[in-house]
This record gives sequence, C-alpha cells and structure tokens, in this order.
Amino acid sequence: AGGHRTFLVGGNWKCNLSKDAITSLCKELSAAPDLETDKVEVVLAPPAPYLDHTRSVLRKDFEVAAQNIWVGGPGAFTGETAAEMIKDVGCTWVILGHSERRNLPEIRETDDFIAQKTKTALSHGLKVMFCVGETLAEREAGQTLDVCVRQLRALAEVIGANDWTDVVIAYEPVWAIGTGKIATPDQVEEVHEKIRHYLAGEVNDSVAQQTRILYGGSVSPTNCNELAQLPDVDGFLVGGASLKASFLEVIESFK
Ligand code: PGA
Repeated sequence: AGGHRTFLVGGNWKCNLSKDAITSLCKELSAAPDLETDKVEVVLAPPAPYLDHTRSVLRKDFEVAAQNIWVGGPGAFTGETAAEMIKDVGCTWVILGHSERRNLPEIRETDDFIAQKTKTALSHGLKVMFCVGETLAEREAGQTLDVCVRQLRALAEVIGANDWTDVVIAYEPVWAIGTGKIATPDQVEEVHEKIRHYLAGEVNDSVAQQTRILYGGSVSPTNCNELAQLPDVDGFLVGGASLKASFLEVIESFK
C-alpha cells in the first residue's frame, strides 16, 4: 500500500443478511479496538432496506455505504433511492459500477449511466467506490486495460479534476468475484499501476497519486496480507468475507 494514502476496506454485503443478522454481526464487529482512522477507513454496504438500521447499530468509527443510487433527485421514480435519502439516514458512501450491476442481463447498467450516477452522488457530498474490471473473456482477449480505461474514461468525461478526492476506484476482475479464484499479486499490481498511470495522463499527477485503488474479488483473511503489501493496493472491497466477524482480519491487513 502507498504510505500517503489512507487504507480503505469496504464490505459489500450485496443482497444478503437480515435485520437480526446485521444486529449480531455489528455486535461482533464492535469487539475490536477503536480504528486508527488516520491509517484505515472501513465502510460497510448493507442492502437498502437496512441502511438506517445498520447505521444505528454499527460502531461509529465504521461508515455506511449504499449499494446503488438513483441518477436524479427525489420524485416519481418508483423503486429508486435518491442520494438525499442515503445522506438523510447517515450514510456517507455509495458503491457504483459494481460488476453485478454492469453485467447481470436483467440490469446491464451502461458506462454512461454509472458515470452520471457517480456525478450525482458526488454533487450531494457522497463518496463513491467506483468499480471497474474485466470479464474472463476480456482478459483472455488481452483487453483488461482497455475495459478498465473505457469504464474510467466515462467518469473522467463528466467530473472535474477536483471531484476525484471523493472517488475511490475498486479494481474487481469479474472472474475473481465470488469464485474463490483470486488474481495473483502480479496481476493485481499490474492493473493498479496502469490505472494510476492512466489517471496521471487523463486527469493529473496529483489525482493519480492521491486516488485510492482497492482490489476486490475473493479477498479473505487468508489472502489479504500479501496483497496489502503491494505498492498500488490501497485497500479492498470485500464481498463474501465481509459477512462474518473474521472480516476484522481483513481490516487488520493495513498494518
Ligand atoms: P467477493 O465479492 O469478495 O465475494 O468475491 C467482491 C465484490 O463483489 O465486491
């Protein structure tokens, strides 16, 4: 991890857990000592119906993220959740561009839509975990960087250089998500380094140096320590392993 960037660990609960299970998990997470917040930040993302509850039972040194937002303001948008509402219940982050929302055939969010939602989130003072990553077919076709750059460029075209302070990039190769097949340290460092290089060219050097790049895809207590040592890995976005109290061990990997 790059020393001047605060390590960040996100837990994406996806469409899992219940109100009771969240209460129990939050209690278990409270057992660990206070976070050294200048060294590590932790953000948990419950399903939308539990945002408010999670905020009320979760330790106060962990932050809460939504897993999606609506692209516009409140109004006649059945089934959607506006940024204002996420903020109203004490949440400070949102995950956008997750591969499940990009790639599930029933959802299929486009690069442009995700970029517009990110712009909306930022304009309301929400911080964004912006996910990018290639499918197995794209990696095998040698398109890994092209795909990540295409997804990032859609964002770079609609936000200003100053907006990047509230953006964290999560590199999540689709073939490593929920599969137990983790990318190798070389594969991870290569893409992270290239994303940083892209930011230097497309935005500017300081954004490239300040922006945190997380790795996601089958991160667990057993594999996080090695990856956390990589110079361009500034934290993790964790799915399955964030549903258990042993998630605390992933948080500890910043040390
Ligand atoms: P996983 O999910 O850790 O269960 O692979 C990661 C993610 O989708 O963010």
